[in-house]
Amino acid sequence: MLQIYNTLSRQKEIFRPLHEGHVGMYVCGPTVYGDAHLGHARPAITFDLLYRYLQHLGYKVRYVRNITDVGHLEHDADEGEDKIAKKARLEQLEPMEVVQYFTNRYHRDMELLNVLPPSIEPHASGHIIEQIAFVQKIMDKGYAYVSNGSVYMDVEKYAKDYPYGKLSGRNLEDIVTETRELDGQQEKKHSFDFALWKKAAPEHIMHWPSPWSEGFPGWHMECSAMGTKYLGEQFDIHGGGMDLMFPHHEAEIAQSCAALGHDSVHYWMHNNMITIAGKKMGKSYNNFITLEQFFEGKHELLEQPFSPMTIRFFILQAHYRSTVDFSNDALVAAEKGLARLTEAYQRLMKLQASATSTVEIGNLRERCQEAMDDDLNSPIVISHLFDSARAINTVFDGKGTISEADLKELREVWKTYAMDILGLQLDGAQDAGAGMDAYKGAIDMLLNMRLEAKRNKDWATSDKIRNELTALGFTIKDTKDGFEWSL
Ligand code: ZN
Repeated sequence: MLQIYNTLSRQKEIFRPLHEGHVGMYVCGPTVYGDAHLGHARPAITFDLLYRYLQHLGYKVRYVRNITDVGHLEHDADEGEDKIAKKARLEQLEPMEVVQYFTNRYHRDMELLNVLPPSIEPHASGHIIEQIAFVQKIMDKGYAYVSNGSVYMDVEKYAKDYPYGKLSGRNLEDIVTETRELDGQQEKKHSFDFALWKKAAPEHIMHWPSPWSEGFPGWHMECSAMGTKYLGEQFDIHGGGMDLMFPHHEAEIAQSCAALGHDSVHYWMHNNMITIAGKKMGKSYNNFITLEQFFEGKHELLEQPFSPMTIRFFILQAHYRSTVDFSNDALVAAEKGLARLTEAYQRLMKLQASATSTVEIGNLRERCQEAMDDDLNSPIVISHLFDSARAINTVFDGKGTISEADLKELREVWKTYAMDILGLQLDGAQDAGAGMDAYKGAIDMLLNMRLEAKRNKDWATSDKIRNELTALGFTIKDTKDGFEWSL
């Protein structure tokens, strides 16, 4: 039986879906005003693992992962100006052009990481009507007030009727001391009140009409509105990074309780952070490395490129609730580990069966299932696969034999757990054998054309060749006397 850790109850609980055989799952997706970095890969891969495992268990899963493209109220550097609007203003682009550009790039990164697309990927900008209706419900219940055209959640009033801060374990006094002086402070009754709707300043590009002002929804509102629209007023799982627990998810709970009288979410799940030398990786910390930089090896903190599968494996090697500290050495170790698994998988596919087994395959399937059932313990699944790689190598080296039945079982378990559930692509199209020389020759030819373009200072062509090959999964490295590439 699958047990998952519910952040709200702070314990592992047996997973029981609200509707027999069906699971509704909502995960906070990216804000598309820049390229995805390693910190984005972790929630995407964590909840991809859950999505894959729930499907393996036979559930029909509706997986909703949103795109945040408006009114992201991050108060850090931009003084409340929406980052997408700011970027658009600077580059003279339509805001939706910026959104589309980074959404496409996010999709490409996710595909390279073998993250399955969600069932529904709603944009906040496409659900303004639903968000206004949700704000209106909170107004009608008396838990919000209008001030200068903006609508704020009346947190003090709400906290008299519902426990505010229960997810992150905070009380109102903690929150008062934590809340920094923010945009709109003078309009609010209390510093801890958060915006449900914001009146747009004249320079704000993206805005919509509402009963209160020409403006845009508060960031927390989109997940409440879109989650309940597509999954119902109560649904099974809400996931996201631990950094979203407060204020974002706490605010979502308050919005749901205020509007509907109850929380919408049955199980809250949070992945831990990726750190660099102990510090959270993120834009505001100036230490983030984009996924593309990992794939191309182009960042001062990187000594070499790392394939998308190495990144995926690196993340899955840790339990999703533990921190992962990034370093070159850790990634090099992950690369080696993945190579060993890949070799074992490919050997497994070539093994010949004998009459009897001298190697022990010892209920690998049950052990892998047990680990996954224990709150998605992917590092234990990986260690079981490494154990079984030893048996595979023994047979491959002619030092043991394996029976037809054991061989069939082993191949099935590896396919199910390594490929389908962990999502590791171990079958390596790179060793395709026939046609290999022609394929290598074609890539060499393209890269020679790129060299020629560079010599002619035709940067558009040279960048196009590099970018398109990279998008196909190639890693290209410029060297003194030409180039190197790998897939
Ligand atoms: Zn969210």
